[in-house]
Amino acid sequence: MRLILIGPPGSGKGTQAKLLCERLGLVHVSTGDTLRDAVEKATQEGRQAHVFMSAGQLVPDDLVNEIVRARFAGHDKPGKFIMDGYPRTLAQAITFDQVLREQALGLHAVVSLEVADDEIVRRLGQRWTCPNPACKAVYHATFKPPKAAGKCDLCGTELVQREDDQPDTIRNRLQVFHALHDDILRHYQKQGLLRNVPGSGEIETIYAGIVKALGLR
Ligand code: AMP
Repeated sequence: MRLILIGPPGSGKGTQAKLLCERLGLVHVSTGDTLRDAVEKATQEGRQAHVFMSAGQLVPDDLVNEIVRARFAGHDKPGKFIMDGYPRTLAQAITFDQVLREQALGLHAVVSLEVADDEIVRRLGQRWTCPNPACKAVYHATFKPPKAAGKCDLCGTELVQREDDQPDTIRNRLQVFHALHDDILRHYQKQGLLRNVPGSGEIETIYAGIVKALGLR
């Protein structure tokens, strides 16, 4: 199965993508993770991207498209995958169509997780992340707190709040998201691929909604 998962920042895309990968055997392709790695390693790409990421802005299309093109051109290109955080602009969606055509890979569906802005601001303000690059576990102060306060359950590293999860940056990210979202939805609706799924409530309830929308249950 080849899927795109779209939704506002903090809609739980990452959590659902992880579950779908584990349970359906898909490869998780996250441009946000790739970019954060590049920032951490201070590569040229990372240095370019950091300016935009820390301000809650999108990284330029060319840079992100190049990352995705490279991912799908390598010998280990994924045949079954879920895209998390890409495409985020119509230009990226058009490029991705082309990349998939070149690789003779058809998309099965585009799942859009729907969550209201107020809930997003509440959720992201409570999100804590493990900064260990080998772990990257994500917690929520209310819904998924770590067992020991401030420490990662999996590796014991001190949890941090992502630079782009600060309240002002969240509002910026939501503005950017809404300005671009409708075009992307229309693009995939025209192709008959769009599936809208409510993104509020328990993690397993949302997962069940996705599975049902995909016609798997
Ligand atoms: P994410 O973890 O997907 O929320 O991404 C974190 C940040 O990385 C975003 O706020 C953007 O600055 C950047 N980013 C990730 N994916 C993309 C993309 N497809 N296009 C542009 N910027 C991106």
